[in-house]
Amino acid sequence: TNTAFAMLGLYALVHIMVTDVAESSRLEIDMRKGINREEFFLVYQAQVTSEGRVLGAEALLRWKHPQQGLISPGEFIDLAEQTGLIIPLGAWVLRTACVQLVTWSQMPELAQLNLSVNVSARQFHQKDFVDQVQAVLQRTGANPQRLKLELTESMLVQDMDDIVHKMEALRAIGVSFSLDDFGTGYSSLNYLKRLPLEQIKIDQSFVRDVLADPNDAAIANTIITLGKSLGFAVVAEGVETQGQRDFLLEHDCHIFQGYLFSRPIPSPEFVAFVRAAQSSAGFAVG
Ligand code: C2E
Ligand code: MG
Ligand code: MG
Ligand code: MG
Repeated sequence: TNTAFAMLGLYALVHIMVTDVAESSRLEIDMRKGINREEFFLVYQAQVTSEGRVLGAEALLRWKHPQQGLISPGEFIDLAEQTGLIIPLGAWVLRTACVQLVTWSQMPELAQLNLSVNVSARQFHQKDFVDQVQAVLQRTGANPQRLKLELTESMLVQDMDDIVHKMEALRAIGVSFSLDDFGTGYSSLNYLKRLPLEQIKIDQSFVRDVLADPNDAAIANTIITLGKSLGFAVVAEGVETQGQRDFLLEHDCHIFQGYLFSRPIPSPEFVAFVRAAQSSAGFAVG
């Protein structure tokens, strides 16, 4: 458990050596302290099927800043990437998510759920990323079959061979992959064909106006058709209304994530949500 702290110390030192301390932003300094002070935590957002069954959750990072209160990842992930703080932070996320998986595995209604974890470019491109994931799985005892890693297109632009190699090594131990925010980055159909993906996620920017904007509707449909024909599960992100959900379902997208079903919530609330959903849908457990 002290590995992250040791790494953090090293990164802090290297960073101070190569940059002017005065240039470091307030937020960066706070972030560094925040990791040590355990100000970060995870919330979980359900992924549900058209029948209302919960398939799993996405782990999303939150920061409870001592003065500024709750800060969203949109406000600090980029900075964490730039400074390298994403390395200890990302390691913490992965470990915490795996510990959560073990806890859920002991609850009959949650034992089958998948947990998706966002991985940043810098984190994934570490030489020993595969070993790190494997070590966390071993140390925590989490089932690799339940762990899904979310990658984004922007991180897939360089060294395709290395990316495929890493993904295949993790696939071999049971970990699966999802391509997040699909269609918003540098979308090459070439990598869709080469990457051992299990799932793609339609970005919420296409879902938002899917009923009002024919272009968004066309893009969403194309992603669904493309994903399905390549054999991937297709998840729609940012589903907020019944109308969006119905449209997507009509166009053959059966897995949804969005405020319509649940916001990202702490684990105890998520457990209650799953139990309520499973019992009202009358699904058999296990
Ligand atoms: P993402 O991975 O695409 O996550 C989905 C984002 O959409 C989340 O924002 C979620 O709260 C939000 N969302 C879900 N449903 C709805 C909806 O119905 N309407 C709207 N308007 N938004 C919805 P969040 O939690 O602020 O995270 C933003 C991004 O930060 C994530 O996008 C991901 O790229 C990054 N991120 C979050 N946690 C981590 C992490 O642990 N590690 C890394 N590397 N990145 C993370
Ligand atoms: Mg994601
Ligand atoms: Mg996304
Ligand atoms: Mg996003």
